[in-house]
Amino acid sequence: MCATIYINKGNTMTLNLQDSTHDWLVCSCGNTPLGSGFYCCTPYGKIVSPSITDGKWDTAHVLCMGCNAIYNQDTMEQNGTASHPSVVDYNKNIDWDTY
Ligand SMILES: [Zn+2]
Repeated sequence: MCATIYINKGNTMTLNLQDSTHDWLVCSCGNTPLGSGFYCCTPYGKIVSPSITDGKWDTAHVLCMGCNAIYNQDTMEQNGTASHPSVVDYNKNIDWDTY
């Protein structure tokens, strides 16, 4: 069992607690950490390498790889969508060996 956080468009959140041991992010597009995944990003959605502070990603934003939604890691609210062509292009061609 795991804690499931469902995020709906419109910046509302319903917490569907199924377990207290893991936090699961489930995007409104259906993406999960085990699906297309989520990655640390800038406020504009550009993927960046995570760095860990106190056992937690210190990047404030995460990008849904299913639909390019950008989420604020602290509030779990959607901040926007990675849509700028240079950001989309960068993310598409990211060198995962250096991530
Ligand atoms: Zn998504």
